[in-house]
Amino acid sequence: MEKFVYFFKEGNKNMSNLLGGKGANLCEMSSINIPIPQGIIITTSACNNFLKNKDDFFQNLKPEILAAVSTFKKKPLLFSVRSGAPISMPGMMDTILNLGFNDSLANYLIEKTNNEKFVYESYSRFILMFSEIVMGIPKSKFNNISFSNYSEKISKLKNIYKVITNTLFPETLEEQLFLAIKAIFNSWNNERAILYRDLHNISHDLGTAVVVQEMVFGNFNDKSGTGVIFSRNPSNGKKELYGEYILKAQGEDIVAGLITPFDISNLNNQLPEIYSELKKYSEILEKHFKDMQDIEFTIENGKLFILQTRNGKRTPEANLNILLDFVNENILSKEEAIIKIDSSCLEAVLCGSFTEKSLKENSPIAIGLPASNGVATGKIILNSNNIPEDGDYILLREETSPEDLKGMYLANGILTSKGGRTSHGAVVARGMGKCCITGCDSLKIENDHSLTINNIPLKEGDYISIDGGTGYIYKGKLEIEKNNLNTNIKTFINWSLEFSKLRVRVNADTPEDALVGYNFGAEGIGLCRTEHMFFKEDRIWKIRQMILSTTIEERKNILQLLSFIQFKDFYDIFKVMKGLPVNIRLLDPPLHEFLPKTSYDKVFLSNKMNISIKEIEERIISLNEHNPMLGHRGCRLGISFPEIYEMQISAIKFALDRCKRENIPTSIEIMIPFVGYVEELQYIKKYITEQLKGYEYKIGTMIELPRACILSHEISKHVDFFSYGTNDLTQTTLGISRDDSIKFLNTYQNKLIYKHDPFKTLDKDGVGTLLKTSIELGKTNNSNLKLGVCGEHGGDPESIKFFNQLPIEYISCSPFKIPVAILSAAQSEISKNF
Ligand code: ADP
Ligand code: MG
Ligand code: MG
Repeated sequence: MEKFVYFFKEGNKNMSNLLGGKGANLCEMSSINIPIPQGIIITTSACNNFLKNKDDFFQNLKPEILAAVSTFKKKPLLFSVRSGAPISMPGMMDTILNLGFNDSLANYLIEKTNNEKFVYESYSRFILMFSEIVMGIPKSKFNNISFSNYSEKISKLKNIYKVITNTLFPETLEEQLFLAIKAIFNSWNNERAILYRDLHNISHDLGTAVVVQEMVFGNFNDKSGTGVIFSRNPSNGKKELYGEYILKAQGEDIVAGLITPFDISNLNNQLPEIYSELKKYSEILEKHFKDMQDIEFTIENGKLFILQTRNGKRTPEANLNILLDFVNENILSKEEAIIKIDSSCLEAVLCGSFTEKSLKENSPIAIGLPASNGVATGKIILNSNNIPEDGDYILLREETSPEDLKGMYLANGILTSKGGRTSHGAVVARGMGKCCITGCDSLKIENDHSLTINNIPLKEGDYISIDGGTGYIYKGKLEIEKNNLNTNIKTFINWSLEFSKLRVRVNADTPEDALVGYNFGAEGIGLCRTEHMFFKEDRIWKIRQMILSTTIEERKNILQLLSFIQFKDFYDIFKVMKGLPVNIRLLDPPLHEFLPKTSYDKVFLSNKMNISIKEIEERIISLNEHNPMLGHRGCRLGISFPEIYEMQISAIKFALDRCKRENIPTSIEIMIPFVGYVEELQYIKKYITEQLKGYEYKIGTMIELPRACILSHEISKHVDFFSYGTNDLTQTTLGISRDDSIKFLNTYQNKLIYKHDPFKTLDKDGVGTLLKTSIELGKTNNSNLKLGVCGEHGGDPESIKFFNQLPIEYISCSPFKIPVAILSAAQSEISKNF
């Protein structure tokens, strides 16, 4: 027969599913001799049985409860009846104190303690709590009673109970206890508990356990009291007792906020021995549970009792401090500490947050999609080209395009009315580590200078504040607490690098990004998208001319200029990376992405190139593609226009030459994108090899087409490395476009057709299988083949876990994702051995 009632000595901390978190930890404390009042636990399974089959089940449960209770010999016997779910749901369910009171017990207790006030206070509190929790009678019903002595008060309270419930107040311990236990079971399904579980994704069929525990009285005399402490400061992690207490009070009083409690440090003056005892137990508990503890205690007549302990909630910053200190204090090993960090905690620390004070003073005026973490505040600006080099601005757009790149870079944050979380703005913002909210429907841009958000009129220059983690938008300037890459994060990154197998590189297109990545611990550049170098204002004109030129000579002339520009970028990047591998991808995107769009641009270009606007327009039309994602791009450009790739290679050559002269070490990898046929690769490789004779370099291809995956054994013969471009490989494998998928992605996720956004978390079954196949085939003809991943998935912990199981050497992600990627790589390796 199933056992439904446990003594504390029969359980331990790992039994929270059955005994609830509170109960399981009480058991654990009892086993390590922490002073706790004795008690029993009625299991969550009893609760679930009861909720299904109320009275029948309870009849059978009664004898087991009574048998357990009869072993308690304390006199007089008073209990607390406490709820405790497997997952903490603070304040959601109920606890009844001082259960067991009746008139004769009260008299006995008065005789014993000579403290009539204390006894009747406790007695009437019990009547009120019982009435409220078991019978649902609000406390206010008992408010205005007049009485001349305590015992009159009690009988008046009981009378109100009788009038409202039509039953007598239960007098025996047995009766009181059974009713209380049933009420706690039922409280699992009270409205606020259900709502809480819905909000926190907690299953509704866990049920609550019930702890029945001997009372200790914090309201007994001046040497009694109650309080709550944290073993460390939960806001900054400092090692100090943190908390509050009240003397001559029961636990309820602190929570109810009726009395203002004292800071725990005062207890050192009032009851110094208790204070040092508390400190001792706090340390013991922390060591034992290997986590910062949130502890409830009561002092009865100069004796300390611990009533509850659990892992304490804390800020992300405090969390890092605490974990580091734990390693230094030998409470945790480095591996254990790394495993305990939640990647979102690291992100939050890196991003900063609004101060609590400013959040209290300001309510959000609107909400959008939380697209890129972090908070920002600044003056509204609507045109990317008007953002000054310094100053605080938030860029507001309907949507963003590559031409907003510079503006996005200069702005503190980005807010768009359209677009999802994979929209251009969102992806770029994440790459920059910049806070971004997209899809804010209530943002209406009216003209060049004014707008409304949720019908609130605003204009350029007005301050707003945005939180990319929540999607909230505030009017005005909220205060920000910023935490940069502090020494704590650096320490964790270094430790993680020790334990990880998978290396982490950075996706960097500029020397600036390369530097951020390098400083964050990237061990090379996994992807340098050379086209991004051309988006800058002064360069885009040259590339436009190049694309629109009709003769080879014309094109070659401009390419020479571009080559010089690109040489300088490569040189700067090589310098930053100090000899770490730099993977350069040759031009990838369809040419029309660079073309002029506005009529102003067209006029400008027609003057510059000395051809008519009409001609410009004709050339633009001739380059137009219906589906550019699958169009004239990638290596196809290198085959149609070898001079473009030759220009890039000569830029690389110049950069290598200069580095050599200046004794700057280099290690380069040249990557050919979008290869599907080995013939494509061979064609391009041939002219690259000729051009780079005498230079040291590796050559490889980006694998982003299913054809390349299933023919990897052919391709691998000709290359040193494969780098999996998982973004495009996802597009081409699933047959969906990243830009258009926003229209159905939500529906697909809601209907559980896609379990994740496949552009965020790798589709292991589909794309993952192609990856495995490609690796296996690739290695058969080239056992030295080096493997990397350069898609956005390299910044996603879940996907990293998958990559870590394959013989992949490195992943690569945007600069601000590096700390999280390094941490996740270490975590997936460590957890293999746990
Ligand atoms: P919650 O889950 O809401 O924290 P608890 O079961 O911990 O509820 O009870 C709330 C408070 O009631 C405790 O913090 C403590 O002060 C008081 N309390 C509970 N059990 C006892 C007890 N056996 N003796 C004295 N006080 C108790
Ligand atoms: Mg509690
Ligand atoms: Mg690509």
